[in-house]
Amino acid sequence: MTVPTSIMWFRQDLRVKDNPALNAACDMGKIVPVFIYDDTAPNGRDLGGASKWWLHHALASLDTRLQNHLQIFKGDPREILPALMKQYDAKAIFWNRCYEPWQINRDKEIKQHIVEAGYEAYSTNGSLLWEPMKVLKKDGTPYRVFTPYYRKGCLNLAPPRYPKAPPARITYSSDVDNSDDGLDALNLLPTIPWDSTIASMWKPGEEGAADNLSEFIQHAARSYKEGRDIPSLNGTSRLSPYLHFGEISPNQVWYAVKDKFGDSEDKSIDTYLSELGWREFSYYLLYHFPTLPNKNFNEKFDKFPWREDTKALKAWQTGKTGIPIVDAGMRELWQTGYMHNRVRMIVGSFLVKNLLLSWHEGERWFWDTLLDADLASNSASWQWVAGSGADAAPYFRIFNPILQGEKFDKKGLYVRKYCPELKDLPDKYIHKPWEAPSVIAKDANVELGKNYPKPIVDLKASRQRALDAFQQIKE
Ligand code: FAD
Repeated sequence: MTVPTSIMWFRQDLRVKDNPALNAACDMGKIVPVFIYDDTAPNGRDLGGASKWWLHHALASLDTRLQNHLQIFKGDPREILPALMKQYDAKAIFWNRCYEPWQINRDKEIKQHIVEAGYEAYSTNGSLLWEPMKVLKKDGTPYRVFTPYYRKGCLNLAPPRYPKAPPARITYSSDVDNSDDGLDALNLLPTIPWDSTIASMWKPGEEGAADNLSEFIQHAARSYKEGRDIPSLNGTSRLSPYLHFGEISPNQVWYAVKDKFGDSEDKSIDTYLSELGWREFSYYLLYHFPTLPNKNFNEKFDKFPWREDTKALKAWQTGKTGIPIVDAGMRELWQTGYMHNRVRMIVGSFLVKNLLLSWHEGERWFWDTLLDADLASNSASWQWVAGSGADAAPYFRIFNPILQGEKFDKKGLYVRKYCPELKDLPDKYIHKPWEAPSVIAKDANVELGKNYPKPIVDLKASRQRALDAFQQIKE
């Protein structure tokens, strides 16, 4: 009897462990593992530079895990997959579901086409703890507020699937070509080498994900509730890019934490799990409200009088606003491809409220520069910051970046790291160098306007301007 061959289509599940589609494909027989860089993504949503860098290395790592059998292509999966089914005389195709609206439409089309052509197509959930279509209010409509969504909706459903062991054996179709040309042909690496710091800090791939998870469980999980707000500490799990590309599943993270700490009453553990819940909520919102990346969730904001100011936007992007905690965050992003969550909220509030620039500007910049850029989490979080989102921070709550800095970066360790020109300022002035008396500034070699910018806006006046703008759309 001949052993059937199937195509295993990897997408945002670049792992071998706990990969339900891979397990199912291996159960059927031989596999042809495939990745397709889909260049048909609509609305200019090609991957940003940082994501491309990550994807290159994540694919290289997966290819190694698959003993160089990964087949990599660029183009339209609607054309490539049927051709592959024919070429390998495959009986079936397997994949884990993706949830961006254009991916859902594309995948439906592919499934229909493949089934009509006489093949089998199986899709499954490999990326979410609770799929969005399964969590609804009693009246059948989707939740719009996080706490009832998570506590009443998700936690009252059956617990998430327990992670699966990797397939006991992977048998590859003998016709598979195992040259590496496919990956290089994607041209994902930068031509100007901006990636050396990033490369020294991150290890894309399943192994890197497992390392970060175990480091977090050993050293930071128990103090997460407080530690997660201090940007100078390694107080969080740094799993977001791995979760985005699926080098680890949320189920692996969820149960690694639960198995270690039990169903403890520990506030830190509960808070950490609920952050995974925020990731789920972002996917949920995107699924039920597919215009989330492009349109204000709260339509009142369609009339909001955003400013246009390319100079201010550039200063924000390059970390030269003259507000130390904001500049430190934007420089962390540029240098490392990551920014601490607390600081993401601070720089976001500064852009949208103090500079009065549209959240789309911030969302686009993050999309290009974050290693964990994720359509669902990025658009949901930007709308949250802007006040236009579901369950958003109220618009009138405007972060004061000086107070935020003084609270969460008391000694200025984070600011000193990313704004070294300020490093010799006393703690008292590290978050407001413009208040330092001239002798102290001179002693610390800080010359505002020369080696560090003067603030590009007055914080008090710009706060008032934002509140006035909000008044215009309130009624
Ligand atoms: P941890 O604190 O260790 O949390 C564990 C995991 O929970 C994260 O890896 C992430 O998957 C999830 N998570 C935590 N906080 C959030 C949150 N607020 N919303 C959604 N998921 C969350 N996260 C992205 O993954 N991609 C983005 O593009 C993104 N853009 C953001 C933009 C803004 C303006 C803001 C304020 C937040 C954004 N976030 C985004 C959410 C959050 O900042 C990151 O997920 C988090 O900082 C990642 O670090 P970590 O893995 O150490 O998180």
